[in-house]
Amino acid sequence: MHSAFDLAINQSGRWEVNGEDVDEDIADSLYERSSMEVDEWLAVRCPYCQVPLQSLKFEDADLESEEWRYNRLYVVVCCPRCAYWEFGGNESGSQCMDPGQAVLAKSVAARFSQPLPEGCARELAQHLRRHPALWHEIAPTHLEKLVADIFRANYRHAEVIHVGRPGDRGIDVVFIDDDSTRWLIQVKRRTSSSRKEGFETLQNILGTLALEGERHGIIVTTANGFSHYATRNTVRARNQGYTVELISKQALDRMLDPLIPESPWRVLLSSPAMAGLRQDVIDYFGGNDAQLKLFEGMAA
Ligand SMILES: [Zn+2]
Repeated sequence: MHSAFDLAINQSGRWEVNGEDVDEDIADSLYERSSMEVDEWLAVRCPYCQVPLQSLKFEDADLESEEWRYNRLYVVVCCPRCAYWEFGGNESGSQCMDPGQAVLAKSVAARFSQPLPEGCARELAQHLRRHPALWHEIAPTHLEKLVADIFRANYRHAEVIHVGRPGDRGIDVVFIDDDSTRWLIQVKRRTSSSRKEGFETLQNILGTLALEGERHGIIVTTANGFSHYATRNTVRARNQGYTVELISKQALDRMLDPLIPESPWRVLLSSPAMAGLRQDVIDYFGGNDAQLKLFEGMAA
C-alpha cells in the first residue's frame, strides 16, 4: 500500500521505521542523527527543485519538571514548489531514565506507474514538479483530464468540461469563463521538449472555431513554447475576430500552483504511529494557520 511518507520513530528506546524494527546499523545511524540538533537532520534545499525549503519550528525548551529538564523541539521544512516536506522532532524524557522520543519523517511522492491513476490531480501536480520529464510521457488522455483539473483549480467560478474523445475535431476541453465566454481548448502532448509548437496547430484550431461558430480557442502544449510564426499569426487571427491563447509547458507548469497542497505534512500528524505526539505540537503544526506561519517565518 502506498503511504505518503516514510517515518522513523523512537518512542520506547528503540527505533522503528515504517512500523518495523530495524537492524543495528540502521538503528545506529538513526541514533547518530537524532543526537544532532533537529535542524541539522533536515534538508535545507528541496532534493527535487533545489530551492530553499521553508521551515516552521516548535520549541519548548524551558519547561522544567521537578528534577529533570524537559526539552522539546519539532521542525517541519517544506518546498514551496512541489510540497516535498520533512518533519523532525526530539523530546527529552519527562523524567530521568525516561528515554524520551525522537521522530523523523519524509514525504514520499506517489510512485506512479503507467497508466496513471485518475482523480489525483494534486498528487500528479507534485509529481510533475519533481519529475518534469513526465510532461512528455503522460498519456494524452490523462493530460487532457489534468488540463481540465488545472483550469478548474485556477478559475474557481468557471465551468470546465473534458470532452476529448477521438473524432471530437481536436477539441479536448471546453472552458466557460466568468463572463460566460466559451473557450475551446486543444491539448497537445509532445514527446520532446526541444521542438516548438508550430503554425499547423494554430491553423487547426482556427478551422475548428470557424466550423463550430466559435470565436475563442486555447492551445495547451507540452512543447517548449510556440514558433514565432504561430505567435505572429494569433495577431492576424485576432484581427479577423478569433482569439487564440497559447499556453506552453512553462505556463502550464505555473498553473499547477493551486493544485500544490498546503501543509502537506498534516497527513503525518493524523497517522496512528504519531499517537505519542502531544496535542500542543499537533495543534501547532496541524492548525489552519500553519501554512501562513510558514510564510511569515520566511518573511522574517
Ligand atoms: Zn521541491
